[in-house]
Amino acid sequence: MNILALGAHPDDIEYGCGGTLLTAVANKHKVYLGVMTDGSATTNTNRIAEQEKAAALMGASDIFWGGFQDTHLEQNRALITSIEGMLKKASPDIVFVNAPNDAHQDHQALASSAITACRYIGRVLFYHDYTSIDFLPDTYTDIGTTLKGKCKLLACHKSQVSKKYPTGLDILESVNALAAYYGFMAKVRYAEAFKPLRYLMSIT
Ligand SMILES: [Zn+2]
Repeated sequence: MNILALGAHPDDIEYGCGGTLLTAVANKHKVYLGVMTDGSATTNTNRIAEQEKAAALMGASDIFWGGFQDTHLEQNRALITSIEGMLKKASPDIVFVNAPNDAHQDHQALASSAITACRYIGRVLFYHDYTSIDFLPDTYTDIGTTLKGKCKLLACHKSQVSKKYPTGLDILESVNALAAYYGFMAKVRYAEAFKPLRYLMSIT
């Protein structure tokens, strides 16, 4: 199976579905990453290098860059066309992407453009990023064996994990808390959570 994970910025994918992608790679599925901006708006750090390090550690088959300017993503033809190009290269059975209801304009723009671009994809799932709003998942993956690996992927994004939210909470702490909460909801120890745009079930 081929999986394409899309993110507006470096680290969105790892935060939202890094544990799931590690499980997929361990099970010999092909994982492709599509990152739309270089995340350069708030830092001088080379976040492309951080993202490429995380992709290599994950075992991703390839990483595609949208080349759009951080904080300037818009739902428009250029973004939709860029996503369509990534879909063509990855030929995915499943697409993971930021959720549309989100405080960050780039996440909103990517999610709504992906809804259009993925109109022929049978499995499209929104993930929980740290600025998601009213995220009410109903689909989960067990990340009991990959949560530690997920934290290592995020640690590749040094410029981000060294930051703290205004409340004092740091990113890795929030990742572990969410994994425990979603694990509780999913009846496993640790989980990642998704809201499908649609999910084509396979009965085998
Ligand atoms: Zn982001």
